[in-house]
Amino acid sequence: MGKFPYFTEVHDEIREIARGAAEEFKKTAEEADRNHDYKIVEKNLKRLAELNLLGIHVPTEYGGEGLDLVGHMIALEEISKGCLGTAFSFNTQRLAMDAIRLGGTEEQKKKYLTAACEGSIISFATTEPEAGSDVASMKTTAVKEDGGWVLNGSKHYITNAIIADTHVLFARSNSLDNPKPVFTGFIVSNDNPGIKMSKVENKMGATASPTTEYFIEDCHVSDAAVLGTVDEGMPLALSALEIARIGIGTQGLGLMQVALDQAVAYAKERVQFGKAIAKNQAIQFHIADMASRVEGAMNLLYHAAWLKDNNLPAAKEAAIAKLFATEQCTWVCNMAMNILCGPGYTTDYPVERYFRDAKVLEMGGGTSEIMRIIIARQQIGKF
Ligand SMILES: Cc1cc2nc3c(=O)[nH]c(=O)nc-3n(C[C@H](O)[C@H](O)[C@H](O)COP(=O)(O)OP(=O)(O)OC[C@H]3O[C@@H](n4cnc5c(N)ncnc54)[C@H](O)[C@@H]3O)c2cc1C
Repeated sequence: MGKFPYFTEVHDEIREIARGAAEEFKKTAEEADRNHDYKIVEKNLKRLAELNLLGIHVPTEYGGEGLDLVGHMIALEEISKGCLGTAFSFNTQRLAMDAIRLGGTEEQKKKYLTAACEGSIISFATTEPEAGSDVASMKTTAVKEDGGWVLNGSKHYITNAIIADTHVLFARSNSLDNPKPVFTGFIVSNDNPGIKMSKVENKMGATASPTTEYFIEDCHVSDAAVLGTVDEGMPLALSALEIARIGIGTQGLGLMQVALDQAVAYAKERVQFGKAIAKNQAIQFHIADMASRVEGAMNLLYHAAWLKDNNLPAAKEAAIAKLFATEQCTWVCNMAMNILCGPGYTTDYPVERYFRDAKVLEMGGGTSEIMRIIIARQQIGKF
């Protein structure tokens, strides 16, 4: 039995399988990072499919394992220790799958979730040049035509889009002049001639997870491509993002654990002034602060996931867990760098990669400022 009362034997098995996968991915993580090689991440996602980890949360009738969010997080926590780029892409695959799981028709779930569990990649897009935190500023339009819709616009910073077979994207489905915007989700094949990949971004961290810009030009789709209910896309996107948020925090949890382990191992070996630096109370206090942050993040994240799994309100808890875990991950990776110092700043150790990888977790799935807005709104209420 694991650390929390709601960890079951099945969860322990998932952790073991995911640990094995993380060990595999660790071997190529440095190369994938250095070369921004998203083909390695693509291969790793297929491997996760082979191990039945990609569809952990998908009901069995759609080809998944039918497990809970806690199960997904356990897998994600372990994968993040091996290769953050893979973990980032893995969690975004879950985000896209969740949008279909929560909003899709029976036919859509059968078709897309089954394929996604087997390794077919789906991307998820709200973000556009004018719509970052302010998701409701999306300018991609969806105009009704006979038997379907025509979509026009662009999306940027979209994880996995360049390796995706399918795109879940959200578009404005009433007039841009209407002061009350409404949005609709669509499932669009990458083969649609209206979808045009533009560029893969050069990033500071999580470099092997592809972040893509694409254009949507006279993209005709049938009525069957509508995800969920017309004009109800925004609540659907936000529900899926609330789950993904816990996953992003969980990547921070995995990353800070390997940063802490690396710092402890180094501090025990490195001798200065005639003794291991770990013998200094100043270093011990740093390590204690790092361990406390790991423990705090773990408790917050798994509690938020447990609430979700039990259909209890979790908007505030998910935002708190994401905010705490990601900001503390950046802090812990920075402290690991302080402890390793010179060698930590070189590519001889993975700590510089952890340090670069950490930052994106504060941004994706809603920034720290947006998390604070959500928390404060829940805490203060209407007045
Ligand atoms: C690597 C990567 C992968 C991504 N993957 C995806 C993906 O798969 N799909 C997708 O749709 N998007 C994706 N995104 C986009 C991501 O969700 C956005 O970057 C994020 O929501 C913030 O948008 P922005 O970068 O435009 O920043 P902005 O919204 O322009 O924010 C700039 C700054 O202002 C702050 N700010 C904004 N509004 C407020 C406010 N009201 N009060 C206080 N502060 C505020 C922000 O917190 C931030 O600090 C990805 C981004 C990155 C970097």
